[in-house]
Amino acid sequence: MNVNTESRIAIVTGASRGIGAAVARRLGRDGFIVVVNYAGGAQAAGGVVREIEAAGGKAITAQADVSKAADVRRLFDTVEEVYGGIDVLVNNAGVMALSTVAELKDEDFDRLFDINVKGSYNTMREAAKRLRNGGRIVNFSSSVVGLLQPGYAPYAATKAAIEATTRILARELRGRAITVNAVAPGPTATDLFLDGKSAELIDHLAKLAPLERLGTPDDIAAAVAFLAGPDGGWINGQVLRANGGII
Ligand code: NAP
Repeated sequence: MNVNTESRIAIVTGASRGIGAAVARRLGRDGFIVVVNYAGGAQAAGGVVREIEAAGGKAITAQADVSKAADVRRLFDTVEEVYGGIDVLVNNAGVMALSTVAELKDEDFDRLFDINVKGSYNTMREAAKRLRNGGRIVNFSSSVVGLLQPGYAPYAATKAAIEATTRILARELRGRAITVNAVAPGPTATDLFLDGKSAELIDHLAKLAPLERLGTPDDIAAAVAFLAGPDGGWINGQVLRANGGII
C-alpha cells in the first residue's frame, strides 16, 4: 500500500460504472479508502467495491443523488461518521444530452444543469467546508468546452461552469493546502459517449485525436490519480485535458 495515501479518504461520485468506476478502482489501488457513490446503480457499485477489496483495498458504497443537496449532506455526514474525515472529492457524476440550441428541450436543460452543475456545487460546498487540510478536489469538465461542435452547447455550458468554478474555488480555499483542479476528457469509451451513436460516428470521433483512438476509463483515472495523489500537489486551479491531443 502507498504510504503517502494510506488512510486518506476519497469520495468518488458516480462511481458505479464508466470513468468513475475506473477512478475508484485506481484510487483503491493507490491506497485510498474509497467511497463509491452511485445514484441508481446499487449492484454495479457493490461490484466496484468487491473489485477494490479483491485487489487488497478498502471501499464502501454510498447512495446519493448529487443533484439533491440533502442527499449530498447525508453522504458527507456518513463518510465523516464512518472514517472520521474526508481528504479527496472526485466530482465525476455527470450526464450528457445532445441538442442544438434551437431544438433544446426544457427537461434536458434542467437535467444537465441539475446533475452537472448543481450536483457538483452540492458536493463542492460540502467539501469546501469539510475537507481536511491538504485535501484535493478533482472536478470533471469535458474537452467539448474547447471543441465547440454543434449540438454540444448545453452540455458544454455545464462544463464551462465547472471550469470557471474550479479556478475560483482554488482561490477561495487559500490557506488550507487544498488543491482544486478539473480533468477534461475527450471522447472516452463509456455508456455516456457510446449510447446513441452509430459505429461510423464512433470510428470518426475516435480518429480525430492524433493518437487515433478513444480514451479508456483507465486513461482518465490515471489523470485523476495524478491530481489526487502526492505527485499532483503543486497543480492548483488548472484544467487538465486528457484527450489524446484532440484539442
Ligand atoms: P457514464 O458511463 O454514463 O457514468 C455516469 C455515472 O454517473 C454513473 O456511475 C451514474 O450512476 C452516475 N450518476 C449519474 N447521475 C447521477 C446523480 N444524479 N448522482 C450520482 N451519480 C450519478 O459516464 P462517464 O462517461 O463515465 O462520465 C463520467 C464523467 O466524465 C462525467 O462528468 C462526464 O460528463 C465526463 N466526461 C465523459 C466523457 C466521455 O466521453 N465519456 C468525455 C468528457 C467528459 P448510476 O448508474 O448509479 O446512476
